[in-house]
Amino acid sequence: MKRGFAAVLTATLAAVLLLCGCSVKNAAAQFIAMDTTIALRLSGAGAEAAVTAAEKQMHELEALLSRTRADSAVSLLNGAGGAPQALDNRVWALLAAAQDYALATGGAFDVTVAPVVSAWGFTEAAFRVPSRKELTELLKNVGPAHVDVSQTDTAVLSPGTQIDLGGIAKGYATDLMQALCDEYEITSGTIALGGNVYVRGTKEGGTLWQVGVQDPAGSGLVGTVGLSDAYAVTSGGYQRYFEQDGSVYHHIIDPATGYPADSGLTSVTVIASAAETDGANGLPGSGTMCDALSTALFVMGEEAALEFRRSSGLDFDMILVTEDRRVLVTGGIAEHFNKQEGSGYQYETVS
Ligand code: ADP
Ligand code: MG
Repeated sequence: MKRGFAAVLTATLAAVLLLCGCSVKNAAAQFIAMDTTIALRLSGAGAEAAVTAAEKQMHELEALLSRTRADSAVSLLNGAGGAPQALDNRVWALLAAAQDYALATGGAFDVTVAPVVSAWGFTEAAFRVPSRKELTELLKNVGPAHVDVSQTDTAVLSPGTQIDLGGIAKGYATDLMQALCDEYEITSGTIALGGNVYVRGTKEGGTLWQVGVQDPAGSGLVGTVGLSDAYAVTSGGYQRYFEQDGSVYHHIIDPATGYPADSGLTSVTVIASAAETDGANGLPGSGTMCDALSTALFVMGEEAALEFRRSSGLDFDMILVTEDRRVLVTGGIAEHFNKQEGSGYQYETVS
């Protein structure tokens, strides 16, 4: 009996080991969607299938959220002329989250800034400097009060109001990728959608993934931060901009003025732990939050951003890079932040 049991146990163990041996696979892919280079490196049982599913999902999301495709859900809503518009449940959930962040950030994050983004030429890459009068006129239709998402899967915009989910879409995409990673038993990996990064698990051997924070004023890094199971999202004026008559105009608009935000910050990185529920059932999670907040805090500036972190009740850390060459790192990640020697920046830990 005893020997028999041991034999069965050994056989079972061997089978389990064999299973594990065959089941840890690696897969990587790079492609372009949402105007961004997307890079995935995944390890786990369904790595290949996860990469394929992630790419398919990105193209689906782009087809729903794009402002330059006439048949996207967002374009149809923007063209509805004030009438109620039925929405795909993911688009509705994302718009509802955008509303929450608009209210939470006092309008610093506001997807109804869409017509202003277009007036500057950022939607079609046909750059121009609009007149103050034109901006004042457009701002009349900007603000969360012009959006009604009170009915599930339906939205109503005031006539003249349009939305642009570009400030939150990539974060949402990473939430959905986390859900895919759960589904395909991904144990470890990195997903980068431009400045939107999701790291899953740790590197082999349990070491943290190192996420670089770019120098907004140069080509190198201001530092790296060690993370596991987390999101890190960077917004900066250096990512999309044009120059005219010696001035630089970037793509993050202060909804209060209609002009590119000029808050003294050159980049904002927002970091939050991945929650188990992120992306589950298509619902926006921590990735979406980091994306909304990185845009909002860039608009707010140093003082207001720090105050927001202390008082908002939202759980996140951040790395602020200022025009006067300071790098501010909040307490929760300070011990995992590595300065870039010789960067010329002055580093501070802040709360
Ligand atoms: P990126 O798209 O480069 O990752 P962000 O997440 O900061 O950067 O989003 C910037 C985009 O969001 C802009 O291109 C525009 O479409 C939109 N946008 C600009 N200003 C705002 C704002 N104040 N609130 C919400 N969305 C904005
Ligand atoms: Mg953003």
